[in-house]
Amino acid sequence: MRIGVLALQGDFIEHITTLKRIGVEASEVRLPGQLEGLNGLIIPGGESTTIGKLAVAYNLMEPLRAFARERAIWGTCAGAIFLSKDAHRDQPLLGVMDIVVERNAFGRQIFSFEVDLPAPYLKPVDPSGRPYHAVFIRAPLIEAVSGSAQVLDQLPDGRIVSALQGRLLATSFHPELTADDRYHRYFVELAR
Ligand code: GLN
Repeated sequence: MRIGVLALQGDFIEHITTLKRIGVEASEVRLPGQLEGLNGLIIPGGESTTIGKLAVAYNLMEPLRAFARERAIWGTCAGAIFLSKDAHRDQPLLGVMDIVVERNAFGRQIFSFEVDLPAPYLKPVDPSGRPYHAVFIRAPLIEAVSGSAQVLDQLPDGRIVSALQGRLLATSFHPELTADDRYHRYFVELAR
């Protein structure tokens, strides 16, 4: 089992650290050839416009779309925006998930927040069923989910913050910034 982390910009180091902690081989991806032999890929949080522009510059757009057709990808925050088909702005998007996002939906950095989510789908990796403490930093909202994409998590007011489409996972929050590694273990099972 080997998981790559797109390392163009953003907090890729934190994802790699968490993957190694749970005993998964992890590698940085900056060039198309580095996608070879991976079971799955994580696209980290950061700045989605920058990640998109660098992905274009490094000729990664089509290789990433081809990867998404066959293997698992998880986008956190900016990574979730990059997976979406529409972010209401002119920026490079992979467009592989049937989700529409609203960037910076909660306002500026000072309106970052944390919340407990029920996350019942984590039960296979942790039967205790305890809630998942999610960290949001200038996070996007998932405005609409269509096609074969399904809603995973909603805030108490019903707003959507994560979605799953086959082996493609989008979360507006940042599991790599907490000590709770259940989300990474969940993704590894998705990629298996
Ligand atoms: N605000 C960033 C964007 O729109 C995402 C923030 C993050 O990844 N923490 O790209």
